[in-house]
Amino acid sequence: MNKGASSLEILFYSDKPEVVETWIAYLRAEGLDFKPVFREPGQEPTGARVAIVWMPYEQLFDKEAQLEVVFNVGAGVDAVLTSGMLPENVDLVRLEDSGMGAKMAEYVIHALAEITRDMAQFRSAQAQQAWQPQPHVYVEDWPVGILGLGVIGSQIAASIAALGYPVLGWSRRQRHFDGVEPYAGADGFGKFLSGSRVLVNVLPLTPETHHILNWDTFSQLLPGGHVINIGRGDHLNEDDLLECLDAGTLSGATLDVFKTEPLPSGHPFWTHPAIQVTPHISGTTNQRLAMRQIATKLRAWRAGTPFTGVIDRRAGY
Ligand code: NDP
Repeated sequence: MNKGASSLEILFYSDKPEVVETWIAYLRAEGLDFKPVFREPGQEPTGARVAIVWMPYEQLFDKEAQLEVVFNVGAGVDAVLTSGMLPENVDLVRLEDSGMGAKMAEYVIHALAEITRDMAQFRSAQAQQAWQPQPHVYVEDWPVGILGLGVIGSQIAASIAALGYPVLGWSRRQRHFDGVEPYAGADGFGKFLSGSRVLVNVLPLTPETHHILNWDTFSQLLPGGHVINIGRGDHLNEDDLLECLDAGTLSGATLDVFKTEPLPSGHPFWTHPAIQVTPHISGTTNQRLAMRQIATKLRAWRAGTPFTGVIDRRAGY
């Protein structure tokens, strides 16, 4: 169905209000004709057919009976779905890549260099003004398992395979990429883990993947294992991670996402010597590219033509 050419009301919301002006400016720069509308908690519904959101509050979609499509300004839609207020008949659309894949691949490569070449020891040697070269590191000794081979995971896999690392990938359905040993589903999980030394998580958060990073998972990795979590904080059982690090089941963790963000002051992750913390920056959003993508999809939606990135509500991603 053609959704008409008249000016469209778009409901905007972000938990960081300052970003909304940027979205509006970039969408206008894309030549999109629209009227922005807003709804604070406790206010009446706007009647908008389209919403563009990040981290909506629970009642944002309540009684928005005209709503047809919601664009999430991020790849992961867990925050929208867990609010439980989005009716099943409303299409939920996520960002696809928008520059995040390359950024996250860069983050993983940096973490891999830190881990495999033990860069921390060069920093402490420098502090002592000590010249302490180390022997060659064989990438073959560091097979990397990637949980999630979607838009982002497949780019990470390609980038690290290009550096010579053995790469294993795990997805729901079997995926085939050059240089990636493919595993899928519950049947492939054990073999995937037992061949991996570094585990990179870039799964969406769904009921199936909640706490997938747990004691049982870590204990199946090759000795000297390391976990890099760039998915969501709720993928990780935090107590299990601390136990595995203390027991030597894992040798380290690089964490970008946390159950509670910002990571609370006094949380044991801040000071654990084997944990590297970054503040959810592995895949920062390129707002210009994000709005360009949304503008393109909005045009397709108005013209009634299909577009990608619509969430499968049953699968949860
Ligand atoms: P995609 O939807 O493109 O890919 C998801 C991948 O996970 C697919 O390969 C899918 O399998 C796999 N998967 C999903 N559920 C399961 C399951 N139950 N078992 C096995 N595999 C499963 O998502 P993106 O690559 O775009 O993004 C992935 C996630 O990365 C986001 O949901 C978000 O949580 C996180 N993210 C984090 C950021 C950060 O800054 N830290 C930034 C951006 C994203 P299949 O291929 O079979 O469908």
